[in-house]
Amino acid sequence: MGNLVAIVGRPNVGKSTLFNRLIQTRQAIVDETSGTTRDRQYGKTEWGGLEFSVVDTGGWVVNSDDIFEEEINKQVKIAIQEADVILFVVDVMNGVTDLDLGVAHILRRAKGKPVILVTNKADNFNVHPLSAEFYSLGLGDPINISAINGAGTGDLLDLVISKF
Ligand code: GDP
Ligand code: MG
Repeated sequence: MGNLVAIVGRPNVGKSTLFNRLIQTRQAIVDETSGTTRDRQYGKTEWGGLEFSVVDTGGWVVNSDDIFEEEINKQVKIAIQEADVILFVVDVMNGVTDLDLGVAHILRRAKGKPVILVTNKADNFNVHPLSAEFYSLGLGDPINISAINGAGTGDLLDLVISKF
């Protein structure tokens, strides 16, 4: 399959918005089956002359926090196994949550697997200082982006392909 980038994180941080932005018109849906709940969606994209695949995780049905945590952790573990680079997306406007801490805990133990901490919803520069709180996750520098307006996504992609 070549290089694979996995997008993980708790619900509502903007994973699918980022996925759609990254793959844009190059989207190649693998499974078109309607009516099924798919927890993973693959697409292909290209940056800097490099083709790679992106997987969005977590399109599951919302039930309870317990199911969230179990499902999120399952997706994170699959990502650690199959992906070459992991994008751990958090919501910079929301601050660190317990679910973020749980994901960070698993990712910190994935030695040697490149993890990029993405502080999404940084729609303007005024909110960039809020990302400092996420250093506490122990996963390095938070990368500010806005999946909605595209700010920072070029720099993020430069960083991603530097990890292949
Ligand atoms: P997911 O559950 O992690 O896949 O999150 P979604 O991509 O479904 O987004 C959840 C919500 O956050 C939606 O209402 C999005 O429009 C919103 N959202 C996603 N990215 C951004 C962003 O960069 N800025 C803002 N302001 N909202 C965003
Ligand atoms: Mg989603």
